[in-house]
Amino acid sequence: MTLEDILAFDAADPLRDKRDLFNIPEGVIYLDGNSLGVLPKATPDAMNDMLRRQWGQDLIRSWNSNDWINAPRRIGDKIGRLIGAAEGQVIAADSTSINVFKALSAASQLNSGRLVLLSETGNFPTDPYMMEGWATATGNRMIAELVEPSRILDRLAPDVAVLLLTQIHYKSGEVWDMNEITRHAHEAGALVIWDLSHSAGAIPVELDKCRVDFAVGCGYKFLNGGPGAPAYIYVAERHQSKVMPVLPGWMGHASPFAFEDSYTPGQGIKRFLCGTPGILGMCALEIGVDIFQSVDMGVLRTKSRQLGDLFIALVEENRMGFELASPREADMRGSQVSIRHPGGYAIMQALIERGVIGDFRAPDILRFGFTPLYTRYVDVWQAVSTLADIMNSNDWCDEKYAVQAEVT
Ligand SMILES: *Cc1c(COP(=O)(O)O)cnc(C)c1O
Repeated sequence: MTLEDILAFDAADPLRDKRDLFNIPEGVIYLDGNSLGVLPKATPDAMNDMLRRQWGQDLIRSWNSNDWINAPRRIGDKIGRLIGAAEGQVIAADSTSINVFKALSAASQLNSGRLVLLSETGNFPTDPYMMEGWATATGNRMIAELVEPSRILDRLAPDVAVLLLTQIHYKSGEVWDMNEITRHAHEAGALVIWDLSHSAGAIPVELDKCRVDFAVGCGYKFLNGGPGAPAYIYVAERHQSKVMPVLPGWMGHASPFAFEDSYTPGQGIKRFLCGTPGILGMCALEIGVDIFQSVDMGVLRTKSRQLGDLFIALVEENRMGFELASPREADMRGSQVSIRHPGGYAIMQALIERGVIGDFRAPDILRFGFTPLYTRYVDVWQAVSTLADIMNSNDWCDEKYAVQAEVT
């Protein structure tokens, strides 16, 4: 493959105009949008208006006049369009971790009598931690259990109340078959919670079609909502009215401004709100989510597959001693490719110093995220040629790259 071929891919890319909607720093090839998405160009002006006019001038009137009060529902519905959820089933709220807790506690109620919360070993840790937390909150009546991914289906016995899985694995990028797994879980009488942190904005998701019960995910990764952006939770319509929230905050009350002494849950998805939404964060999240409203997720997915395939082909062509840690088959892989090397941490630091930003996950994984809205084929080409320079020159062995920072 030549550089001309690569440039021809970019020229023919149906998403090529989207890159201009984002602020990509000069000299940077950003392959970490799966961890923190880049800044949309429209965000600073929207934030400025939020701060100076909506907060600064309109003050508390903004809850009505600027519709702050409906931000969780409005943005939730927009996220819903990206993940195959009809309106009224998604809200933007809280963090993913908190939403995992809300989903676990709700699902357990709907499946009372069954006591096991099931997930896979190696899942993103906040998910199993929250399972332990919810088990603790039940006085250890419920039991958190992790099994190897290959044993999940076999473990779906009649004691399993809830199966919690991350659709796209944060380290390997491997994709679970949502439709199949959900069907198996339901046949076994379990409810499912899907963590979509690496799915929303990366691949097409069909929550309603797959009859998923609950889902959660992050706003700051592929959705480009900004550092620590609000997360979201999906609760299938058929379940909503049957759940008595375990975190019954006043914002989820049927009539918050009646200030009643005891809790009456709001209608529908509203009861999954907890406290006052962080409106500044909601503002940035909405800009990120809005960009996707005119994007065909099928087209986006095609490019995501091709970017990953190209990266793998170029890395292997250069014979640099990496081992592929992601599925080779594009359909089995989310929008990232991970490769292994014992010197992974130092190699990634050397790459970052040269403007190619990916990240490192212990013990030996270099992770590269491909965000089809702003990653070009030529970026993949340049990233791999920078990597080849570092490896061929042994520059990464310089001891300055071995110093571990707090965030990897
Ligand atoms: C990033 C990520 C989270 C993050 O949870 P926070 O509460 O936002 O810190 C949760 N689950 C998965 C699978 C993730 O990849």
